[in-house]
Amino acid sequence: PSIPSITLSDGHSIPQFGLGVWKTPADQTAKTVATAFELGYRHIDTAAAYGNEEGVGQAIANAGIPREELFITTKLWNEKQGFDSTLAAFDESTGKLGLDYLDLYLIHWPCPANDRFVDTWKAFIRLRDEGRIRSIGVSNFRPEDIERLNAETGVAPVINQIEVHPLLQQNQLREFNRSHNIVTEAWSPLAQGGELLQNEKIAVIAARHGKSAAQVILRWHLELGSVIFPKSVTPARIKENADIFDFSLDADEMKAIATLDRGERMGADPATLN
Ligand code: NAD
Repeated sequence: PSIPSITLSDGHSIPQFGLGVWKTPADQTAKTVATAFELGYRHIDTAAAYGNEEGVGQAIANAGIPREELFITTKLWNEKQGFDSTLAAFDESTGKLGLDYLDLYLIHWPCPANDRFVDTWKAFIRLRDEGRIRSIGVSNFRPEDIERLNAETGVAPVINQIEVHPLLQQNQLREFNRSHNIVTEAWSPLAQGGELLQNEKIAVIAARHGKSAAQVILRWHLELGSVIFPKSVTPARIKENADIFDFSLDADEMKAIATLDRGERMGADPATLN
């Protein structure tokens, strides 16, 4: 079965599933992304801060896949926030990726104490209007940050990429996104591969479907309507993670996973990261 797409509020569409490359070593990135492309992945999530945009670019150049079939996201790093510095950082990222346009560019973190995300967003709007970015979005933004973008620029992000997994389900923020026509992307969908994968309730559901714990958790995200891009450098896992389009979770299974929410972050708190 093929990977579904979600239509964004700007009319563009995004594959609901892809590959994340945070912590993928720079010298393994081209090979890892090439493996993913061979297995049917078309959506890659990287960031300037991951230090591996060049590897993603190499894989794109070597794959020979028509550009319009790919969906490539990168992110503006915190210290580059500001109007002019954003324009320069965009050129640097697209140069490393070897792309003349991005499918999605995200402000990586709001860094509210720096108070530069509105100027940054104005540069994003300009790059979008120039046709150099298809869709513009944010990551780790709180409702009040998004309200400021709306109030000061009149342009809402089409995506908010936030930490979501069964231990941090983010029901309120996901509902805020949904009610503002913002698609949620769930980062660290597997809670970074820790103890969640050993959870007993997940194991019961996995056994029922003949799937792995990782596949059940990824399927849970799809049922919630989130976009996901689990990370792996291991070919067998890259294949396993994509094999989630031939089963579904019923209401009782979704309820069982809902009980696992502990409101526990693995990553930084967007209110305080600068
Ligand atoms: P993840 O939840 O995708 O977990 C990845 C880890 O889980 C792997 O390193 C591996 O140890 C394990 N794993 C993967 N597949 C497995 C399988 N089938 N079976 C068993 N274990 C498996 O963690 P992540 O990398 O933090 O998140 C995914 C992506 O989200 C990142 O690569 C990045 O693109 C994005 N991200 C964004 C932000 C942000 O601030 N915007 C922060 C973190 C991550």
